[in-house]
Amino acid sequence: MDNLIEVRGLVKRYGDFALKAVDLTVSAGCVVGLVGENGAGKTTLLRAILGLIRADEGSVALMGRAPSEPEARAEVAAVFEENACFGHLTAAQAERVMRGIVPNWDSDCYAGLLEAFGIGGKKLVKDYSKGMRIKLNLAVALARRPRLLILDEPTSGLDPVVRGELLDILLGFMQDERNAILVSSHITSDLERIADQIAYIHAGEMLFQRDKIELMEDMAVVRCSMARIEQLPEELVIAKRGGAFGASALVRNPERVRALMPDAVLDAASIDDMMRYYAGRDAV
Ligand code: ATP
Repeated sequence: MDNLIEVRGLVKRYGDFALKAVDLTVSAGCVVGLVGENGAGKTTLLRAILGLIRADEGSVALMGRAPSEPEARAEVAAVFEENACFGHLTAAQAERVMRGIVPNWDSDCYAGLLEAFGIGGKKLVKDYSKGMRIKLNLAVALARRPRLLILDEPTSGLDPVVRGELLDILLGFMQDERNAILVSSHITSDLERIADQIAYIHAGEMLFQRDKIELMEDMAVVRCSMARIEQLPEELVIAKRGGAFGASALVRNPERVRALMPDAVLDAASIDDMMRYYAGRDAV
């Protein structure tokens, strides 16, 4: 089984919000970064993948099975921002609970991560800082020896040093090419570092899931006058913006744009740039 997650045509409606026929694939050996504005539907999608909410239409296969089957979740560990288990326990007491219920529990892995993260001791989890709670949740997730990690905003609220450590741990997890990670984040620089693919969800719609390097090579930001942007062939312009200080556009095929406008400023597009332009796009 190469695809650890396969989402096809997933629809979930909540009042005025809907996930609109979303497709997503996460294959073994791959880190997929899920990006999107606040309220775009990232957490809803992750919850549907884990079978925590029922889709209105479409299908989800998790480890090749329906998410509701216990076998589907046996090799999957998820960390959600709001996880608040173990409140009145210490990290060591939490371990005893997990060891009792998780068949593949790896005590050495857990102890090593607690030490690396500098957490543990007598403090109750409810008195942890946000960053400490995220670290504990991640240690618990990794000690389950999963093949698939599903992480919702794992690095938000962490300082840059700890974020770096955490990303190294995730890259270490990916040394085993049977493993995969689906991770949502607003810290796109983290995804630029660890993701192989970027999936961009905008207002409930999956705009693309693409190889990160290909995506970076295929898009650029061009800065010049609006009149010149409007002379570019339509198929090259994804979105354009005009302002007091001139105009700019997110374009595809930078090589062609450079050939057409040799003197215009052409910069590499970051994931943040892509989101900013797509979010306010006035041309597609
Ligand atoms: P953020 O980046 O802010 O965490 P997100 O992309 O994870 O946002 P979701 O949490 O998936 O977004 O929310 C998407 C939409 O679905 C929002 O409009 C939210 O209000 C709505 N929503 C989510 N869960 C429910 C629910 N249980 N009942 C009603 N609406 C919900």
